[in-house]
Amino acid sequence: MRRKTTILLNGKRWRIVMRKLGRERAHAQCWPDGLIEIDIRLAQKRKLAALFHELFHAAFPDMADGKCESLAKSYAAAVWLLGFRELR
Ligand SMILES: [Zn+2]
Repeated sequence: MRRKTTILLNGKRWRIVMRKLGRERAHAQCWPDGLIEIDIRLAQKRKLAALFHELFHAAFPDMADGKCESLAKSYAAAVWLLGFRELR
């Protein structure tokens, strides 16, 4: 299954696509042309962290990768602890 949506972020439209990433050798990717891809096979909490990570790259292109990662993990943990889950 493949899922996709679009969001507006800092006035720029971004497509978010959840699909199997294999050849890309990444769990998620953020392309400057406005595409975020997340591996749909990730466990829910990892998928959340990957989504936040790529959203930080999209919103703050100059933010260091490590900062994106640490913020993403904190955001994912907060959302997870509050009980948000993916609908299947
Ligand atoms: Zn990154």
